[in-house]
Order: sequence, then structure tokens, then C-alpha cells
Amino acid sequence: MRERLQSNLNQVKARIAAAASQSGRDPDTIQLVAITKYVDAATAALLVEFGCRDLGERRPQVLWDKAAALNNPGVRWHLVGTLQRNKIRRTLPSVSLIHSIDAVRLAQAVDRIAQELRWTVDVLLEVNVSKESSKQGMDPGQLEAVLIAVAALPAIRVRGLMCMSGLQSDTTAKRREFSSLRELLDRMQHVAPQGLQLRELSMGMSDDFELAIAEGATIVRLGSVLFAGIPRQSTE
Ligand SMILES: *Cc1c(COP(=O)(O)O)cnc(C)c1O
Repeated sequence: MRERLQSNLNQVKARIAAAASQSGRDPDTIQLVAITKYVDAATAALLVEFGCRDLGERRPQVLWDKAAALNNPGVRWHLVGTLQRNKIRRTLPSVSLIHSIDAVRLAQAVDRIAQELRWTVDVLLEVNVSKESSKQGMDPGQLEAVLIAVAALPAIRVRGLMCMSGLQSDTTAKRREFSSLRELLDRMQHVAPQGLQLRELSMGMSDDFELAIAEGATIVRLGSVLFAGIPRQSTE
């Protein structure tokens, strides 16, 4: 199990590096976030031992539980799924980046609690680029107004954008979705208030991360490809 996980991780890193150099990008500018929702805390801890310090979860309560189980201040936890209002307070102290802010009201609620806790939270704005109704994320047409509103909140720092490609999308469509997120980031860099460092593009999962890297991803969120051949203990 250990060996298999280590070798999966090495292969994934090699694929990230190859995809980066194919697009003339420095592999060090692409951050791997291991999505641990398929495995238990002990397996997640192994990844950390192998040097993977960015871990992500889809569900807030699972993130709390695994963060407590690992109890390692060197781990950066990423929330990649829906954040319900009543879970904000418990999530903030454990999380280093929230990828899934998709509405001003949610951001305001996060900001209010972050101010109370005297905390500053890094977030990404999630955009529904595939236009699949099942997908989370705001409509691209709303992004500018949401960015302006969220950037004004004192306890939140917007770092960039996040998307998921459509489940139904083929390679061409995925590529278009990723490039449209990159174009949105370019546009937002022009309208963002001065001083805001909007750089991150969180896009690309096990099936499509190489495409996402070709289109400019700075963060790839990988689950299944890391845990191939590893016993699943889904905590989804
Ligand atoms: C599960 C999940 C991932 C990882 O998916 P894989 O296809 O298993 O790599 C990435 N992002 C989000 C939002 C997820 O829910």
C-alpha cells in the first residue's frame, strides 16, 4: 500500500512536470492538491509523509475530522466543495484556501465570522464555465460584480478562480472551458482593485489535469489518480 501510494504520487508528479514543460511552464508553478475524500486519515497522513502538504476535501465536516486526526500544522487544507453557512465557524481555523466561493452572500458570511475570529481567509471564486446546471459555481456573467463586492470584504483575500470541467464535456469542450477560465482571470486582473494578487487558477482533476495545465492551471486537484490500487474508504 505504502509503496503503491508513493509510486502513484511520483508518477503524478512526473506527469505534472511533463505537461508543464510541454507548455513551456515551470513545473514549480503548479501546485498539487491531493483530494483525500476517497481514503482514510491514515492514508492521507502517508501522503504528507511523502512530502505532499496540500490536502483537500469536498465536505467541511470530513475536513475537520481529518485535520484533527492528522493534527499536523504543516498541512495546508483546501475546501473544494460546498460550504454551508452553519459550517463556516468550524471550518475557518482548519482551512488554508476555500476554492468554492460562489456567491456574495456566502463571502459576506465568511467575512463576518473571520472578522470575529480575527482571521484572514484566502479564497477562490468558483465559476460555472461548463454551464452544466448540475455544477456549482457562479455564472461567468456575474463574476465581475461578485469580485468587486468580495474584494471589498476586509477579512477575505481573493486569490483567483476555480472551475470544474463538465461531466459531459469531451476533450475539446474541456479545453475550451479551461481556457475560458484563464481568460476570465485575465479580465478580472484588469478590473480588480489595485493591490489584489489574483493569480491562481484551480482547474484540472484526475481525468483532465494535463489539459488544464496546458491552459494555465496553477493548482490541480487530484484524487482518483493518486489512489489507484489503494483501498478506498470513501469519506465523501
Ligand atoms: C473529488 C474532487 C476532485 C478530485 O477528483 P478526481 O477526479 O478523483 O481527481 C477535485 N475537485 C473537486 C471539487 C472534487 O470534488
